[in-house]
Amino acid sequence: MIGSSPRISSAQEVVAELRRRKAFVMVSHVKPDGDTLGAGLALGLALKRMGKRVAYFQQDAVPRNLRFLPESELVARQLPPDLPGDTLYVFCDMSDWRRAGEFLPPVERENMLDIDHHLGNSLFGKLNFVLESECSTGSVVMHLLRELRVPIDRRISTCILATIMTDTGGFMHSNTTPEALELAAELMRLGADKEEITEEIFLRRRVAAVRLLGRVIDVMRFEHGGRYCYAYVDDAMLAQTGADSEDTEDVVNTLLGQDGVDVAALFKAFDGEIRVSLRSSGRLNVQAAAQRLGGGGHFRASGLTCHGSLEEAFTAVKAALVAEGL
Ligand code: 5GP
Ligand code: MN
Repeated sequence: MIGSSPRISSAQEVVAELRRRKAFVMVSHVKPDGDTLGAGLALGLALKRMGKRVAYFQQDAVPRNLRFLPESELVARQLPPDLPGDTLYVFCDMSDWRRAGEFLPPVERENMLDIDHHLGNSLFGKLNFVLESECSTGSVVMHLLRELRVPIDRRISTCILATIMTDTGGFMHSNTTPEALELAAELMRLGADKEEITEEIFLRRRVAAVRLLGRVIDVMRFEHGGRYCYAYVDDAMLAQTGADSEDTEDVVNTLLGQDGVDVAALFKAFDGEIRVSLRSSGRLNVQAAAQRLGGGGHFRASGLTCHGSLEEAFTAVKAALVAEGL
């Protein structure tokens, strides 16, 4: 293997590795969403059905609106102390292992499996099962479940459907392919609880979150002939509305939804750093823009972290967007 460059693994290769190993840690990315968690939980549930030992690692708390996911109560920052040395760490929905955060103990490449659908995945694992054409990492996992021939029960199918609905924005984004809808239909027939996913992830809003949205709308700015819309949220706005950072997840989509807007950015200045969410209507590649500033993601949805003042972050992000054709 020395000297050979990493490549995309086949489902058969990955399944052979899954069968060979006895213990697994499903790793999700910081500030988890329904895809990174749902993909790991679905594969974890399937591996448990095969008699394997499974732990779930996440450095942050599971967001309130994802606590309905089966086994999400087992997701923790602390790993069991007695995991064997050949435990396989399965990284779901991240283009690089560093997205798992700073609390994951060191893992050798030999023990890393990378399952993802992002553009520009760094192929960091021993095996890399990366299918960029899939709408969610959960639908990438679905290929493995089929190859494993494990029964896909109600709980597993709910987890996978949650990944699809998360990453397609409830079947609204352009990654809602006929294949994605067919898979969703199959999962509903297998018992996936679409109503619960809709209610928990898309419909229910805390009053504080709605108040926060109002404050963000107040500070919205439009530039480049109204094609670029951006806004910020800071600690003071959270304190004034009683909202917390979880309540900001959906806000950037409201910015993108304004008439005439091609690109939207939400700058979240909490605890001394600025997290930026970028969204595109499809004309401009915000993954490339984010990558210029050390971030990444997808063509239409990406993110990055800035340090310094908000005005400096506004300037840096605008320059990156202009470089990508804003
Ligand atoms: P969000 O704006 O919801 O935090 O992120 C949108 C998309 O960009 C997600 O697919 C997420 O995984 C990706 N993303 C967000 N922040 C980063 C980052 O700092 N680095 C990389 N590589 N991807 C990111
Ligand atoms: Mn995803």
